Amino acid sequence: MLSLDLQIREKCKELILSEEQLRQLMKTFHNEIIQGLGKKTHDNATVKCFVTYVQDLPTGKEKGKFLALDLGGTNFRVLLIELSENHFEMKSKIFAIPQHIMLGSGEQLFDHIADCLAKFMKEENIMKERLALGFTFSFPLRQLGLTKGLLKSWTKGFNCSGVVGNDVVQLLRDAIKRRGDISIDIFAILNDTTGTLMSCAWKNQSCRIGLIVGTGSNACYVEKQKNAELFDEPDAGSGQVLINTEWGAFGDNGKLDYIRTQYDKNIDQDSINPGKQFFEKMISGMYMGEIVRQALERFTKEGLLFGGKGSDLLFTKGRFYTKYVSEIESDYSGVYTNCREILEELGLKHATEQDCVNVRFVCECVSRRAAHLVSAALCTLLNKMDEPHVTVGIDGSVYRFHPHFHNLMMEKISHLINPHLKFDLMLSEDGSGRGAALVAACASAKKR
Ligand code: BGC
Ligand code: MG
Repeated sequence: MLSLDLQIREKCKELILSEEQLRQLMKTFHNEIIQGLGKKTHDNATVKCFVTYVQDLPTGKEKGKFLALDLGGTNFRVLLIELSENHFEMKSKIFAIPQHIMLGSGEQLFDHIADCLAKFMKEENIMKERLALGFTFSFPLRQLGLTKGLLKSWTKGFNCSGVVGNDVVQLLRDAIKRRGDISIDIFAILNDTTGTLMSCAWKNQSCRIGLIVGTGSNACYVEKQKNAELFDEPDAGSGQVLINTEWGAFGDNGKLDYIRTQYDKNIDQDSINPGKQFFEKMISGMYMGEIVRQALERFTKEGLLFGGKGSDLLFTKGRFYTKYVSEIESDYSGVYTNCREILEELGLKHATEQDCVNVRFVCECVSRRAAHLVSAALCTLLNKMDEPHVTVGIDGSVYRFHPHFHNLMMEKISHLINPHLKFDLMLSEDGSGRGAALVAACASAKKR
């Protein structure tokens, strides 16, 4: 009979991905991207690779005063950004979006957004100005232009009725019109990955990928225009276009079944979008804590943890937050201060030292798996782009706050990338705000 911790280690093996499994994932993912980009295959593709209509990366010379909205991350924010050469200033305000609005009607949602925008403009004394606005909308959009995008589906915690299939920019314009007290020019709608790339590229000319590992996960990258078969702008200048991969949906057609565990299946079943966003659900902050909790609940019920005695909180869905994973892994090795504190908070005062060791081990398995999955998908893009040196701009709560995520990614990417290619991973400051202003700035400069 194996000792309790060896049994736990044995049962966690399904969470540890071998390099061979990751290489298989890279092959599959590469194929999925080709399907998404192709005119004939796009409609049935799982990884959509939407064209963003952003073609020019910033030069650092953008100027002007812009408003931005940021919807779809941890917080909803309204921002005012002033760009001048190589310098910017920014004011922002966070507004809550109550759950009944996140799950209510689209009209309610956009009325609420317009309301927050008007409040902010009043406070900043810009009610009378007609400013250009960039709208960071972090959901899968089928874009038909820089200011037109149809929502493909909601993800993360949102599920508002009457929005899927509609033009989100128009819905925002309608809500602003209903109020009648403010006027703005919407110059661009963009994904947070696009904002992240732009924000990083503003300072760093080698930035070619924008990545989010936060509440959700996704990446965008610079593709050759000729490969983006759905791109239909005739007078395209730069010969390149940003592609929003929407990689969160990778696996929704069964292609990740060889690595999905029972935890992943449970999480999907309990989510507001079952059958969707399989890759995202294995990686992102909205789900990571819950994967750990499921494993801990199972091991407790099997008598392998906490002497077989759990607690109500440990057995409550959603009650093991992703930030716990970051905190537990922030303990120095051999010390379990944060871990103990969290277990006590969960009503597990009776946890032994060995329980702490095991809880930390489970956290490590789940966060490493996430980092390795992200790394493999990222390497697929890097290898496909085949540029000698690419900087990846990254944002999101998991990447920011997990103590080892960056290092885990550096290590794994170094193993999986084609050996002649070089890369950097760079934290991108405030892509959803500054990035939105930069896209709006590029667009308004073109119009003039
Ligand atoms: C959305 C993406 C977004 C990502 C990160 C996903 O759920 O589909 O559009 O970029 O979350 O916010
Ligand atoms: Mg954000």
